[in-house]
Amino acid sequence: MQELETIIGLEIHIQINTQSKMFCSCSNDSEGVDPNTNICPTCVGVVGTLPLINKSAVEKTILLGLATDCEIAHHTKWDRKNYFYPDLPKGYQISQYDMPLCAKGKISIYDENGEIKTIRLNRIHLEEDAAKNVHTATETLVDYNRSSTPLMEMVTEADLRSTKEAGNFLREVRRIARYLKVSDADLEKGHMRCDASISMRPVGDEKLYPRTEIKNLNSFKMVEKALEYEICRQTKQWEEGKPNDREETVLWDDDKQKTQFMRDKEGAADYRYFPEPDIPEVELEQSFIDDIKKGVVELPHSKMKRYVDWNIDPVQAESLVEDMELAEYFDQLVELADSDDLKKASIKWFLGESLPAYKKANDEMKVSAEDTFMLIKTIDSGKISRLIGKQVFEKAFEGGASIADGIKQAEEAAADIDLDAIIQEVIAANPHVIEQYKSGKEQVINALIGQCIGKTKGAVPANEVREALLEAVKKV
Ligand code: ZN
Ligand code: MN
Repeated sequence: MQELETIIGLEIHIQINTQSKMFCSCSNDSEGVDPNTNICPTCVGVVGTLPLINKSAVEKTILLGLATDCEIAHHTKWDRKNYFYPDLPKGYQISQYDMPLCAKGKISIYDENGEIKTIRLNRIHLEEDAAKNVHTATETLVDYNRSSTPLMEMVTEADLRSTKEAGNFLREVRRIARYLKVSDADLEKGHMRCDASISMRPVGDEKLYPRTEIKNLNSFKMVEKALEYEICRQTKQWEEGKPNDREETVLWDDDKQKTQFMRDKEGAADYRYFPEPDIPEVELEQSFIDDIKKGVVELPHSKMKRYVDWNIDPVQAESLVEDMELAEYFDQLVELADSDDLKKASIKWFLGESLPAYKKANDEMKVSAEDTFMLIKTIDSGKISRLIGKQVFEKAFEGGASIADGIKQAEEAAADIDLDAIIQEVIAANPHVIEQYKSGKEQVINALIGQCIGKTKGAVPANEVREALLEAVKKV
C-alpha cells in the first residue's frame, strides 16, 4: 500500500462584534436575552421589509482581509442563497456568491515540524447568520435572536496537511480576530464555527480526490476528533481499494464519537444563487479602504516568530501571544531597552519576575512596562543589587508601592552602608582564607564575597562587593 497524505481545507464562520445586526438596527448582543425578543420585521424576514447594509460589518471584514493579505473588492454585491430550513425565516440567506469582499489572502502558521508554512485563503465574504434551532427531548424550538448576525466566512485552499496544522490554523484565526477586535471569536459561544473538508491521496499524486465535508464543528477538540476519525475511515477505504468516489457531507456525532453520513455534498446549483434585488451593488473607494488599513496590527504569528527568535520556547511563545495585554507589556518592555544587553536583561526579567508575578496575581500586570524598565536599568547600572531590585518589584506588584520611591530608598540604603568597614571586618576574621588566596587558590575568595554580601543584606550589588574586596585584599 502506497503512503497516503491528508488534504484538509477549512471554512470558518466568524460572527462580527458590531453594535447592530447585519441588515437592521436590532442589537447584535443577545447574550442572556429571552428568546425571540431581540428581533424586528427585517431580521425575521417579513415580506415587504428592506435590508440595509451594516457599514461597520463591511469595515471589519475588510480589516480582516487586509490583515491577511487579501485583495479587496472595489465593486461588490450580495446574493440570495436559497434553501429551506426552520432557522431561516426568509427561505434564503443573504450572502456573497461571485464577488466576495476579500479574495486570495494568506495566513502563516507553524506546521507539524515547527517550520513556518503559509496557508492560502480563497476568500472572505460577508453574510448573515441564521437563527438557532434549540432541540429539547420532545420538540425543536427556534430562537430568532441570532437571525441576521453579521457573519464572515473564511474559506481556505486545501493547503492543510494534518490535524495539528488545522488546529494551529484555527487558533491563529481566532487570535487574529481578537487582535483586530473584529470578533470575540469564542468557539464555546458559537462566535466561531468550522466546517472541515478532508480527503486523502497517495503521496506524490497532484490530483484532489472527492472530499468529505464535516459540518458544524464548534470546539477545537471536536475538530481534532472528527478529522482523526475521518483520516482513519478514509485510510481504510484506500487500503480496501475503494476510496470515496463522490463528495459527501457528514456530521460529527460527539456522543458516538464518529461521523454520520448526512447527504451528498450540495453544489452551488442547489442553492439557486441570484443577486439580492433589495441591495444595490456597492462601490468601495480606495480612500475608504486606506482608512481601514490603519487598523491593521502586527499579527500574532509574526509576534510569536519574534519571541521564538528571542530564544523563547515555542509553546511558551504561543501562550504569551494568546494573551494580548501581557504580550503588549512584554513588547513595551523590550522596546524601551536601548542596547542589546538591556534587551536581554528585559527579556530575562520578564520571564523570571514579571511573568510569575502576573500569574500569581491571577493574570493582572500591576506594574507598568516603564516602571519595570526603570528598575531593570537601575540594576544593570549597578546602583542597586538584583536581590534588592526584586524586593522593590515585589513591593510594587503586591503592595502597590511606587517603583521610583523603592529605587530611591534602595540607593540611599546602599549608600548608607560602609562597605569598606565590612570588608576590613571580614578580612580580619579570615586570615587563613586570605593566605590560601594569596598562595593561588583564587576560588576561595568567593566565600568572603558571600560573607560581605550577607553583612550588607544584599543592598550592594555583588560585582561591586567583589571589586572592592579584591582591591582591599591586594593591600593586605
Ligand atoms: Zn432586526
Ligand atoms: Mn456561510
